[in-house]
Amino acid sequence: MIRSNAENLIRKSMARFVDNELVPKAQEIDEKGEFPRELFEQLGRMGVFGIRYPKAKGGSGGNCVLFCTVCEELARGLMSLAAISAMQSLMGTNFLFRFGSEEIKEKYFHPAMRGEKVACFCLTEPEAGSDLGNASTLAVRTENGFLINGMKTWVTNGPVADFYTVLCQTNPEKKFKGLNFFLVPADTPGLSRGKPFDLLGTRNTKICEIAFKDCFVPLDHMLGGEGQGMTNLLSILAEIRTMTAALAIGLQRAALGDCIRYAHERAQFGKTIANYQLIQAKIANMAVDLEASRLLTYKAARMVDDNIPCLTEASMAKYFATEAACRAADQATRIFGAYGYSMEYSPQRYYRDNRFLLYGGGTHEILQTNIAKWAGL
Ligand SMILES: Cc1cc2nc3c(=O)[nH]c(=O)nc-3n(C[C@H](O)[C@H](O)[C@H](O)COP(=O)(O)OP(=O)(O)OC[C@H]3O[C@@H](n4cnc5c(N)ncnc54)[C@H](O)[C@@H]3O)c2cc1C
Repeated sequence: MIRSNAENLIRKSMARFVDNELVPKAQEIDEKGEFPRELFEQLGRMGVFGIRYPKAKGGSGGNCVLFCTVCEELARGLMSLAAISAMQSLMGTNFLFRFGSEEIKEKYFHPAMRGEKVACFCLTEPEAGSDLGNASTLAVRTENGFLINGMKTWVTNGPVADFYTVLCQTNPEKKFKGLNFFLVPADTPGLSRGKPFDLLGTRNTKICEIAFKDCFVPLDHMLGGEGQGMTNLLSILAEIRTMTAALAIGLQRAALGDCIRYAHERAQFGKTIANYQLIQAKIANMAVDLEASRLLTYKAARMVDDNIPCLTEASMAKYFATEAACRAADQATRIFGAYGYSMEYSPQRYYRDNRFLLYGGGTHEILQTNIAKWAGL
């Protein structure tokens, strides 16, 4: 792939961080299953969380291509940390940056950029997953603010977050057009967090339910114009999908790299397994999947940067790259033979962590439905 100087520089410095700080420790961090606070704070100091925000506003001034480059590299090291960082850099802070008052930015957005506060994004409810129009967490207008009641679930970073960007309904009759985002600080009376979920993969991402019982927030905590919630969400959906595809590329690179190393080391029948054509075919398929994922993902990222509508391209990138990551992890468990089934080697982690990519930003059934519509069905 042809890359700009800025991309190469960012890629090199992130690759150094990933090779030195993540790859050697990923297994241990995953086994501990804790929120990686120190690494999170380190990424904040490095300016990673500000990559999508202008330098003049406290960010590091990167575009979507650079954001994807960072996500890809982090995911090559540890998907959990990459997922937490992506949440912090995009969904968890975007609405504060775009619609928050100066006071809100000072209190929440800037500390989040520096890695001093943890952000998250609450859309999903027990009865509203893909069907977000059915979201029923209610925000009722009072004299000087809103009272929020309802329940969110599957909130990534939920158990450790300092503030929540929450999708609420202010006018149920209007359905989609009654949806709005609100900033709800974690210490708001009436907000309670459930027990962290027991997860299959990305075990350092902490996820839980969040319940809101008569949570009062002032008027300026509504982020975006009344009834604009879905429109504002749609305006970053292509980027969310493209970023998820970049995470999938990182996982594919990790799996492919480990498989190539292993194939050169492991000898059976008097030669290394790299000599066997059936192993070569698997490696070739993984390499082709990776290159195709890159082409789709960075095409979508460049379209985001050029302000060209690209929801379909981003959906294709997320769909293809994530499915390719699932295939790569599956092949890794085979190339490693029995060791691919051991918790001591990396393929099991890739095999579990790739599932993280299947749900957020749209399940693959939803993406396929949208792509089919675009194709003419
Ligand atoms: C690891 C993880 C992290 C997450 N983090 C967050 C987060 O931070 N914030 C947040 O708000 N949410 C988060 N989610 C929730 C995620 O966004 C939802 O899982 C997703 O929107 C799908 O909703 P659901 O799980 O309720 O599935 P459902 O919508 O109930 O779907 C169930 C099945 O039916 C299929 N289906 C549904 N509708 C259709 C249709 N119209 N046509 C065809 N098939 C359909 C789906 O594809 C799926 O296979 C997370 C989920 C996971 C697993």
